[in-house]
Amino acid sequence: MLPDIPKLIQLQERDQRIRALQKDLKDIPTLQARAKMQLAGDQAAVEAANLGMKEIEVKIKNIQLDVQTRQTSIKRLQDQQFETRKNAEFAALGHEIKRYQADVTKLEDGELEQMEALEIAKTKLKDAQAKLAETQKRVNDDLKNLDERAEGVKKRLEDLATERASLASPIDPDALDLYTRIFIKKGDAAIVPMENAQCGGCHMKVVVGVIQSLKQSVSLTQCESCGRILYMVE
Ligand SMILES: [Zn+2]
Repeated sequence: MLPDIPKLIQLQERDQRIRALQKDLKDIPTLQARAKMQLAGDQAAVEAANLGMKEIEVKIKNIQLDVQTRQTSIKRLQDQQFETRKNAEFAALGHEIKRYQADVTKLEDGELEQMEALEIAKTKLKDAQAKLAETQKRVNDDLKNLDERAEGVKKRLEDLATERASLASPIDPDALDLYTRIFIKKGDAAIVPMENAQCGGCHMKVVVGVIQSLKQSVSLTQCESCGRILYMVE
C-alpha cells in the first residue's frame, strides 16, 4: 500500500466529521427559530384573554356612566317634585322617578353579571399567562441548550481543523490536491476501499487494469466510474 493511503484515510475521517459538524452548526438557527415558534400560540391566547377582559371592563364603565346619568336625572326630578305645588305634576314626576329607578336596578343587575364575567376573564388571563410563562421557560432552556451545543461544535471544529492540518502536512501535495478535489465534488468520500472487485463509493465493478494498478501500488489509482481514489483491503 502506498504510504499516502492510510494518511488520506485518516484525513478523510476528520473531513467527514468536520462536514457533519458544519451541517449541525448550520441547522442550529433553524432549531432556535422552531423553538421560538412554540411561543406564538400561547402569546396569542394571552392577547385574546387580555382583550376579552378589557372589553368587559369597558362594558362595566359604560353601565356605571348610564347609572350616573339616571341618578342625576332622579335627583333633578326629586328637586322639581319638592318645588311643585301641583298634585298632578307631583304624581307625574313621581312616575318618571320610578321609571328611572327601575332603569337603575336593571343596569345594576347587568353590572353584577359583567362583574362575574370579569372574574372569569381574569382567571382565564391568569391561566393563559401561567401557560405562556411555562412555555417561555421551556423555550429558554431549549435556546440555552442550542447555544451551548453551537459553542461545543465550534470548539470541536477548531480542534479538528488543527488535527486536519497536521495530518495533511506530510501527504504528497499532488495526492492531497487530488483527494481534496474529489472530496469537495463527491460530498461523502474521496478515498474508498475496493471490496469484491467493486468500488466502495459507486459500487461499480472495478476493471482488471485498475486492479492491476492497485496491486502494483506505484501511484494513486482512481475508480474508472466515479473517480474516487481506491485502495485494497489487506
Ligand atoms: Zn467508483
